[in-house]
Amino acid sequence: MLPLPENFVARILRDLGESEGRALCEALDREPPVSLRLHPDKCPTSDAPTRRQELFAAAEPIPWSRWGCYLPVRPSFTFDPRFHAGAYYVQEAGSQFIDRMLAPYDLRGWRVLDLCAAPGGKTTLYASLVGAEGLVVANEIDRRRAQVLADNVRKWGTGNVVVTVNEPRQVAAFESSFDLVAVDAPCSGEGMFRKDEGARAEWSEGNVRMCAQRQAEILGEAWRALRPGGVLIYSTCTFNREEDEEQLETFVREHEGELAGAETVAVEPEWGVVCGVVGAFQTFRFYPHRARGEGFFAAIARKSEEAAGRERIPKARRSLFAAATRDEVRELSRWVQRPEKMRFVRLEDTFYAYPEEQADRIRSISEGLTAIASGVELGQLFKGRLKPAPALAFAVALERGALPAVELSGEEALRYLRRQEVGVEAFAEGMNLVCAVGGWPLGFAKRIGTRVNNLYPQSLRILKNE
Ligand code: SAM
Repeated sequence: MLPLPENFVARILRDLGESEGRALCEALDREPPVSLRLHPDKCPTSDAPTRRQELFAAAEPIPWSRWGCYLPVRPSFTFDPRFHAGAYYVQEAGSQFIDRMLAPYDLRGWRVLDLCAAPGGKTTLYASLVGAEGLVVANEIDRRRAQVLADNVRKWGTGNVVVTVNEPRQVAAFESSFDLVAVDAPCSGEGMFRKDEGARAEWSEGNVRMCAQRQAEILGEAWRALRPGGVLIYSTCTFNREEDEEQLETFVREHEGELAGAETVAVEPEWGVVCGVVGAFQTFRFYPHRARGEGFFAAIARKSEEAAGRERIPKARRSLFAAATRDEVRELSRWVQRPEKMRFVRLEDTFYAYPEEQADRIRSISEGLTAIASGVELGQLFKGRLKPAPALAFAVALERGALPAVELSGEEALRYLRRQEVGVEAFAEGMNLVCAVGGWPLGFAKRIGTRVNNLYPQSLRILKNE
């Protein structure tokens, strides 16, 4: 690992004082804790302690996150089929504090914009919080990173997310449209120094200034997209004031009279979180020598109900969707739970299901922006029968009764995930849902006589051997 950048160390010692500054620098040279967030809705047991116990007997809860836990050692997630089933998302503990910040709110039915979303750690949290009747627009400017985001969103399977690949200003053309806007800003990444050597290599004071400038622009767009009364979350994984408190100070000056306080976030002193206030913002900082997680900074405030702003939905650039016909709906309805709450649409030759409450909005977003994933991807119809898309296996809404299911043991599940041949005996003739032990869906496979067609997508298959 490269040494910490000299100017960074000098600044930390100046800002935090010699002893605390040294403690932080030492912590940045230690191994980070391993943590993850369990999926709340995918499997039979529904409370966090039971799920934790079932999945990782030695796990310990993260006190500020309802579904988060620490693991005593880092397992090989690649070789855990449940990881591929989206049973959990590997996420550092500090970032999971967003769950605590939103604990006072019932987000069900909310529209959330996650403006800097890849690879999807926070998006998957928002998707769980807004529930089946809510909507998360997860935007990522970088096309390659957006593909990873889309994969993670499909795997999470909540069916209430649209992934867009646009500049923040294009998304913000949906003015005053969101109940919550989150800016998890691209930053100089000082909080990642112990995990990510690249962050150390790229750090410079010039880069800090450039990041601050870009963050200010993104925050401006976030504000445009937020409805009066809505909640704004700003976060970075860096420690310097320029990108954190000073960023907010400027924002507060520019938006005087339009900001209001959010609900008070309850923090226990033993967590080691440094709490502060910048105007209407409550701020929270995670230093790795004080709190058990990576470096993280987060702030929350609201747009005042009195602030100016009327919802604006830009005109569609093109028309993409066709309604499914009655016969098509009959077949598609067999595959999802509560089909009466869904709207079925066709986009080119693929069918999707959207939560009815959000279907019009998903349509205008998909037609006005560049959307690469949305809702529950169902698949294609051939002679009136659905050939399920791989993503449907991960969907929380999948109706398990629609097809036979096969549970594969650890080794056999890994063979399936490598797209290798699997034993034919357990499979029924025709399409099967392939699950890992515990009933975690991984994908589909089709038995034709004595052969099983492994339908796990090439792009997701495990390539590592050990
Ligand atoms: N929210 C993500 C999560 O929890 O997994 C992490 C987001 S990461 C800190 C910041 C993201 O902002 C990166 O994916 C980066 O590609 C994106 N980004 C970079 N420049 C941007 C810009 N000008 N506007 C919006 N997003 C940008």
